Amino acid sequence: MINKKYLPKYPLVWQKDDFYIEIFCSIPNIATGILITTDKAKFVVDPGDGILRDLNKNISRKDILEISDIFISHGHHDHVGGVWSFLTYLSVMKRTLPLNIYFPEGCQEILSIHKAFQEVYSHETNYAINLIPINSNKKFKRKSITIQPFKVNHREMHDDGNSVYVPSLGYKFIYEGKSICYGGDTAYCESLVKMSKDSDLAIIEAGAIDEEDDTHLTMPQAEEIGKTAKEYFLVHVPE
Ligand SMILES: [Zn+2]
Repeated sequence: MINKKYLPKYPLVWQKDDFYIEIFCSIPNIATGILITTDKAKFVVDPGDGILRDLNKNISRKDILEISDIFISHGHHDHVGGVWSFLTYLSVMKRTLPLNIYFPEGCQEILSIHKAFQEVYSHETNYAINLIPINSNKKFKRKSITIQPFKVNHREMHDDGNSVYVPSLGYKFIYEGKSICYGGDTAYCESLVKMSKDSDLAIIEAGAIDEEDDTHLTMPQAEEIGKTAKEYFLVHVPE
């Protein structure tokens, strides 16, 4: 049996005053699910499969219906698998508040899920879905949180043995002088190194299966980056 040095126990929770993050899950090829809140904001990051179950377990229906913004790091199924059920739930619950979905420009999965959702449910959906593709590192502000997206270098293996770039982002969330850096999935890249440094919390994937894997970070690489932040979580660790 392989000796596992580090396997995170979910959920992972971090809080500074009213700045709160809960990582329900981050397991490669299975699911991710992250909730970020302040007194004024309710965001979801990477709603993988099970996101509704996990939100329902932790917050009220009213709070779920007030989630205003969704941030997608990339389109792999373990990061977007819960989008369909989340959108449908809001429709069934008669939500009227608009919902923003931020995603890396070129992410076909989000465009396809949204298109299919509109085809099936637009006649009975009472809330607007604003798709917001991101193609730059420009900061913006939502509900008193500043969001700094940054491009990362995530790749997927194709059958010919070559890895191919997938549109991928990390996000830094800054609120009242505190910051949370979420790198999404990525191989080693300077943008993640820069954004993680001095963050109050860095959430770094350690998904590489071995040193040859250029689609994810190895555990030593992830630890090295994490240690430059005040605190860090290693996630997306192969089980
Ligand atoms: Zn991925």
